[in-house]
Amino acid sequence: MNTKLTPISELGEFGLIDRLTADIKLQHSCSVVGIGDDAAVLNFANLQTVVTTDLLVEGVHFNLTYVPLKHLGYKAVAVNISDICAMNAIPSQITVSIAVSNRFTVEALEELYQGIKLACETYKVDLIGGDTTSSISGLVISVTALGIQTPEKLSYRSGARENHLICVSGNVGAAYMGLQLLERENKIFASDPAMQPDFTGYEYILERQLKPEARLDIVHLLAELNIVPSAMIDISDGLSSELLHICKRSGTGCLIYENKIPIDEQTASMAKEFELDPLVAAMNGGEDYELLFTVPVSYFEQIKAKPQISIIGRITTAAEGANLSMRDGTIIPFDAQGWNALN
Ligand code: ADP
Ligand code: MG
Repeated sequence: MNTKLTPISELGEFGLIDRLTADIKLQHSCSVVGIGDDAAVLNFANLQTVVTTDLLVEGVHFNLTYVPLKHLGYKAVAVNISDICAMNAIPSQITVSIAVSNRFTVEALEELYQGIKLACETYKVDLIGGDTTSSISGLVISVTALGIQTPEKLSYRSGARENHLICVSGNVGAAYMGLQLLERENKIFASDPAMQPDFTGYEYILERQLKPEARLDIVHLLAELNIVPSAMIDISDGLSSELLHICKRSGTGCLIYENKIPIDEQTASMAKEFELDPLVAAMNGGEDYELLFTVPVSYFEQIKAKPQISIIGRITTAAEGANLSMRDGTIIPFDAQGWNALN
């Protein structure tokens, strides 16, 4: 076992970049030149390119007391890939920029890059560059992702029309309940370090928080079905807020059904422990990175046959607003703050 930890100053900036990026191989022919020159060179021929960036700041977006660096690296990439998927595009390259304080060792950054490289393998993207600099305190990570698609297959937020079906992949609210669990156990541990956290039975919601996956499989599935969603968005801030983005950009309203919203059993039982309505976690909780999309009603049978996708409602007129139909038949409007159980 390697017990010696290396301060970054021992390698210097260039040595560090070399160490972190030594084993990177390019897998896409559209990545002409990657790391090593002043800029990367890409060739997308006649495909359109989509680009997205996210910035993650320690203490604001992540807490290293309960997030392992490898997971953080993976998540930083996955959330960007999710944005590419939300355009119905195929992710192809990423760049990674980091600002680090001297509190971090070379080995710690290698752990971060293990997660980054694992995500590159999972989503088949090339790491083609980045930047490395120092920070006075803490860690900052910025990932930029690129993706490709033909123009007619891109999905924007603005294409939903009246009567289109509203669909969501996987289930929602799990990452939020995973975070509640981590924060609770972290507080218990802080007050009594002898108390070991017990996550038995809640592995799934923990994983949804610590190691979220972008639904690239859904982009491929839709392509197999020959379906281009009329509108699509990924769920980073919560179902209600994302649905309102689609409605606003499309000039529509929506009606979704409480009993159709997919919620995992662990999410429901953790919500119960917190005396929280699981619907609140599903509607308002974020970081699920599921895809929320609309399709014309003619695709009903095809979509219904896919267990990975739930049809949760339909698009209505803007005048009707955004509404949630409850199990008892009552209809409750919801807004960007999400659905409030006390309304
Ligand atoms: P420049 O001075 O032109 O910004 P750098 O010395 O910062 O160049 O970077 C050298 C090469 O290493 C470039 O190809 C750059 O994209 C890449 N690079 C720098 N930092 C990182 C990083 N954290 N992750 C991946 N690639 C990086
Ligand atoms: Mg640089």
